[in-house]
Amino acid sequence: MKYELETLSVCPLCSGAGLRTVTQIQGRVTHERFGIVRCESCGLVFTSPRLTEAANASMYEEAYYKGEGFDTSVHYESLDEEAKARAGECAGIIEKMRVMSPLADPRVLDVGCGTGVLLQALKDAGFTKVEGQELSTYAAERAASRTGVPVHQGDLEALAVTGARYDVINATEVVEHVRDPLAFLRGVERLLAPGGVFVYSTGNARGLYARILGNRWPYLIPEGHLFYYDPQTLRGFLEKAGLEAVMPESLPLGKRLRLAQAESRIAHSQLLYVGLSAPGAKGVIFRTVAMASIAPAKLLVSWVVGKGQLPSGRKRA
Ligand SMILES: [Zn+2]
Repeated sequence: MKYELETLSVCPLCSGAGLRTVTQIQGRVTHERFGIVRCESCGLVFTSPRLTEAANASMYEEAYYKGEGFDTSVHYESLDEEAKARAGECAGIIEKMRVMSPLADPRVLDVGCGTGVLLQALKDAGFTKVEGQELSTYAAERAASRTGVPVHQGDLEALAVTGARYDVINATEVVEHVRDPLAFLRGVERLLAPGGVFVYSTGNARGLYARILGNRWPYLIPEGHLFYYDPQTLRGFLEKAGLEAVMPESLPLGKRLRLAQAESRIAHSQLLYVGLSAPGAKGVIFRTVAMASIAPAKLLVSWVVGKGQLPSGRKRA
């Protein structure tokens, strides 16, 4: 089967035309050759050529959630053991929400909620106003039926026009998958109530881990990951979408420490569950690192991965 590809002629962040191909990668599912490109003006790294919208959508069918798609490190089908492995990730995300939002029981939307692991954890933690959004019909149905939480199946832009408002919007490992980050973040901005916060996680292309591994950074999976951000390019997108970019280093020390701890729980849990489901050497390495679970080692791991260096978003009051 031949998959249709498209090439981006200008940078989606700054419209610069100086784009340099850093490396080429063959897709695991499609066997097509994809480019990883860097914008010479703003430094944004993204996939081009990439799959067209229709070809891209076909990557998110049932096989993806069973670890048989473009990303073998996700294995969303074994829900019980996965929920256990991801408990630390969920606790870290909930702690981030508590650090960033002053409200005790905020209206929460989990964007790209998948099969609903975080929705369930939020309910268990006492949050009463929780909703999910998910593109995949397969995952949306599973999330709604196992958690009882309302799940909006469809894209974020469609939800944004309904007038719904949230105090906290979370997106765990979502923004690297979206085709148009600016449209996505404008949707987030519309959906946030004044003072509302946007928290998320994604790979940091300027993190030490990415820089050491270079072209072998395992996050480079261009059939699904279309953007590889860093603190500055994310700041650029957040601000273009009308949000305030809250850099972690601008926060008071107490909040920074709580966030660093939350990020270390997230990084450790992600290592653990990727280690459990990834095949071969990658799984072994991730599991081994995850075993070094004393607090200073966890903080070191999360600093090396660098996801905690990315800014959050806030809607101006
Ligand atoms: Zn650019």
